[in-house]
Amino acid sequence: MLCTWNFVALAGEILLTQTQQKPTTKFQVQSSKYKPSTTTTTVQIYFIEFSYLLASILFILGLKGMSHPETAKRGMHLAEFGMLMAIIGTLMHHEIVSYTWILSGLAVGSVVGLAMGVWVPMTAMPQRTALSHAFGAFAAALVGISEFYRNGGHLEKITMSALGFEVMLGALTTTGSLLAFAKLQGMVRGTPMTYKGQNVFNMALLATTIALFIYLIVVPGSMPLFFTMVGLAFVFGLLLVMPIGSADMPVVMSLLNSYAGLASAATGFVLSNKVLIIAGTLDGFSGFILSVLMCRAMNRSMTNVLFGAFGSAATGPAAGADHQGSMREVNLDDLAVQLAYAGKVVFVPGYGLATAQAQHAVRELADVLEKRGVTVKYGIHPVAGRMPGHMNVLLAEANVPYSSLYELEQINSEFPSTDVAVVIGANDVVNPDARDNPNSPIAGMPILEVDHAKSVVVLKRGQGKGFSGLENPLFFKPVTGMLYGDAKDTLNRLVRAVHEA
Ligand code: NAP
Repeated sequence: MLCTWNFVALAGEILLTQTQQKPTTKFQVQSSKYKPSTTTTTVQIYFIEFSYLLASILFILGLKGMSHPETAKRGMHLAEFGMLMAIIGTLMHHEIVSYTWILSGLAVGSVVGLAMGVWVPMTAMPQRTALSHAFGAFAAALVGISEFYRNGGHLEKITMSALGFEVMLGALTTTGSLLAFAKLQGMVRGTPMTYKGQNVFNMALLATTIALFIYLIVVPGSMPLFFTMVGLAFVFGLLLVMPIGSADMPVVMSLLNSYAGLASAATGFVLSNKVLIIAGTLDGFSGFILSVLMCRAMNRSMTNVLFGAFGSAATGPAAGADHQGSMREVNLDDLAVQLAYAGKVVFVPGYGLATAQAQHAVRELADVLEKRGVTVKYGIHPVAGRMPGHMNVLLAEANVPYSSLYELEQINSEFPSTDVAVVIGANDVVNPDARDNPNSPIAGMPILEVDHAKSVVVLKRGQGKGFSGLENPLFFKPVTGMLYGDAKDTLNRLVRAVHEA
């Protein structure tokens, strides 16, 4: 489904970009090269308006549906249908559409979107999303650049304001997203890249870019200044993401998502395209709301995010560096007996569950335990895995009932009455240093307090660190036992062992 959506969205983005080179607003100048082929009839105009209205309604209903796991699938289909209507509506603009460009855009978009949908694994979704943001933002920037160029830079103030906004946001989101992609893909080191005076330099660069933007609104027509502004915005995107460590990337990703959406909305103003304005605004603000939620989940302030240079915040002794004791290994058969005779078990899935594709295995274990009368719940951290909602998607795929999933705030109070908390490939989201050590780089990040359970078992392959690269004192606590091995394999063996217990 995601594949289909990516395909349609990517094709749509390219398509909309390539087809809307028209002087529709009263502010825009008719190009001498512009030669309408056929005329749009009144019926077609009504159809276009209807398809855009329908697309906008479907996008809103789609978003509403996607806000809850139970209705997410339906929401996705509604949004897909909305995108189809928007594309059909755009194709009806006979007088502005060049079908050669449409078909080229559709072919490129389909090939890239389909390939990404088929071959990119779920665990690489964040970097794939970063690439999508880069494509969308680049498309928006290109539309703005071509409009400026086509009109020789002589645009009405209001058009120039929207266009400048679109190009600036589009350009910085393009390079910012590409760098985020490179960091998440491991092509560039994921740790924060900082230098002295970085904030001052970044702010000065941003101020210069905005000053050029304002100048171009007041005194229109300068190509060199416009392209300097575009160049600076491209550079600013890189500088914005450079000082941000991979652990803070979810916030950056959702913020870039918001920028890409707002750039698309500005494109809609420039092209007088209502569906782009609505879809861009929805995308921009849903991205912004997600940023706020992610900030809370990662314990980052929005100011910190907006002014870059975060992720290198912690100084002083790093958390977990002075941990005491050793890790205690547990036996699989002993754990099976413990689980089989427990009153309440809470599973805490993390990134390792996703890499091992162990969602079906955990569901099977839960089924076996529930048949024996054990109460089974799942504790879901908002940033467990590598993208927002990662665990919800995986567990839904394995038909784990939504009623068994508990958010952080709901499940934390239940750990003291939990007999066994089974941590499956999770690390950072259960790191007690976030709560106990103010010097930890993840200090203040809300965690699943599994260490309050009567007993904790951690399923992981070995001594590997979490995404933040920090040591986890949980693994050294007396209450914790370690069961090494691939999560899927271990869970499958546990299912058999519980049957025999
Ligand atoms: P985590 O901190 O990345 O830890 C994952 C653990 O899984 C590792 O310690 C690893 O240890 C283990 N593991 C890996 N493959 C495994 C396998 N096949 N079987 C069993 N265990 C396996 O994961 P998390 O606790 O879910 O935390 C998520 C982190 O990602 C947070 O720091 C978050 O900020 C960050 N992040 C989240 C998002 C998001 O939106 N959700 C996006 C980007 C980044 P071994 O190597 O020893 O097996």
